[in-house]
Amino acid sequence: MTHFDHQGLRADIVAGASAPVHNATVPALVARALGQGGAQLTAHGALSVETGAFTGRSPKDKFIVRDGLTENAVWWDNAGGMAPDRFDLLLADVKEHLGHQELFVEDLLAGASARHQYAVTVLTPSAWHALFIRNLLIRPEDGLPIAADARDVTIVHAPLFQADPDRHGTRTETVIALDMSRNIVVIAGTLYAGEIKKAVFSLFNFHAPRAGVLPMHCSANLGPEGEAALFFGLSGTGKTTLSNDSARPLIGDDEHGWDDAGVFNLEGGCYAKTVRLSAEAEPEIYAATQRFGTVLENVVLDKQGVPIFDDISRTENTRAAYPLAALPKVAPGTVGGTPKTVVFLTADAFGVLPPLARLTPEQAVYHFLSGYTAKVAGTERGITEPQATFSACFGAPFMPLHPTVYGAMLAERLRRSGAQAWLLNTGWTGGGYGVGRRIDIASTRRLLTAALDGGLDDVAMRTDPLFGFEVPEAVPGVDPALLDPRQTWSDAEAYERAAARLVGLFRKNFEKFGAGADAGAGPHLAEAAE
Ligand code: ATP
Ligand code: MN
Repeated sequence: MTHFDHQGLRADIVAGASAPVHNATVPALVARALGQGGAQLTAHGALSVETGAFTGRSPKDKFIVRDGLTENAVWWDNAGGMAPDRFDLLLADVKEHLGHQELFVEDLLAGASARHQYAVTVLTPSAWHALFIRNLLIRPEDGLPIAADARDVTIVHAPLFQADPDRHGTRTETVIALDMSRNIVVIAGTLYAGEIKKAVFSLFNFHAPRAGVLPMHCSANLGPEGEAALFFGLSGTGKTTLSNDSARPLIGDDEHGWDDAGVFNLEGGCYAKTVRLSAEAEPEIYAATQRFGTVLENVVLDKQGVPIFDDISRTENTRAAYPLAALPKVAPGTVGGTPKTVVFLTADAFGVLPPLARLTPEQAVYHFLSGYTAKVAGTERGITEPQATFSACFGAPFMPLHPTVYGAMLAERLRRSGAQAWLLNTGWTGGGYGVGRRIDIASTRRLLTAALDGGLDDVAMRTDPLFGFEVPEAVPGVDPALLDPRQTWSDAEAYERAAARLVGLFRKNFEKFGAGADAGAGPHLAEAAE
């Protein structure tokens, strides 16, 4: 890998700025955000901001520089490519654009493991974005081990710069461009702050496998005996919600690595959905939305500045960004050992999947590669109607390598650790979207607790005739009927039709992996029906 002069690039951008501010305190960033306009304090002292046209990520506007390092490594079916000279032109134009502006420089870390760490510097003209990424990544003062050989990453953030498709080779005026060889990122044409954290994640996901680290789009927490659990899932399936558990210290919210020593958080903060947030169902997250320094994105406030979390007039994808220190219980060092439990979360809007199923290691890899959920309204622009989504490794937009690279690493780790995998459906019951209802969080938590605590080791299981996985027949505190979706539907034939349709979608999706992946561990229709 070439050794790029990150200090030089940063110094160059700083030199052009009118008043660069390095690593400002939280109060100073809040004060400047209020001064820059477009932000206000809530009644409880959080910083409320709006992101305008982009209230979610723009996956189609993300590009990876095509060069010797990436050409034969990246799964281009899933990623846009950008020529190196276009990237350099974009970077030069963005540098020019940032000149003579206010500039905030945040020197942060990604990777709570000194074995695999990035020294991330974010340069942005926007005070609230500086605060956002300061909340989300690891602050040097957090006291985590700092690696002597941390790799430099520079993120040049220019939310108001409009890319020119003809000149920069982009699709639109919005661009997230990643140079994996030099670890430089340019983000322009969007105010949605989640792009910054997911850009760091994308770099990590590209580099980590070569260092023996499995990068994972998951949350993680610790059980009473210090045993780690991982929660994989696409946006809105419950990673953040369910990993916040008063009995289990949080390791991390969204992005982790798993190497020989165990699991480590990549980040130092959380980015929680706040839509319909309630103090009863999600007390830790609710409390974090009321604290000074938290950034609330696109949350509607009443006249007194009190958040109205039920108001989705701006977007369903309202968010709160806060550091782990905002939570009552955090795992020491934000690391865990080797996980004992791996949970795949899905929000099945077809109402077909059981709320909990036990997976064999082969089924686990099948579901990991499939990455199924159903989107009702989400983090991505333009999704308003429910639709089935298959996103490999539960995070295809941020996993640059071929999914089978990550799948093989997961298979090997499941085998060596003996971790038990589960599929937890946080979606619909009693019928699909529009007919049934979403399973309540309390029931989901009871199912999850039973799986995590080993309470299901000895209960009777039935084998699902289509999916082949095992479904518990009884779980303490849960209505047994809920466990079998066929019984929750008033129309049995409608269930069978919906189930057959979903099985078909799984099988069709899996064809893209060809012979390189084991389709046998997936669902099958009875021969007559197929
Ligand atoms: P992202 O990757 O975008 O951060 P995430 O996987 O962390 O997504 P959450 O933020 O946990 O997703 O979102 C789950 C949402 O679904 C929350 O708004 C939560 O209140 C809601 N919800 C409703 N019912 C359930 C349930 N049974 N289990 C989990 N979450 C539920
Ligand atoms: Mn989340």
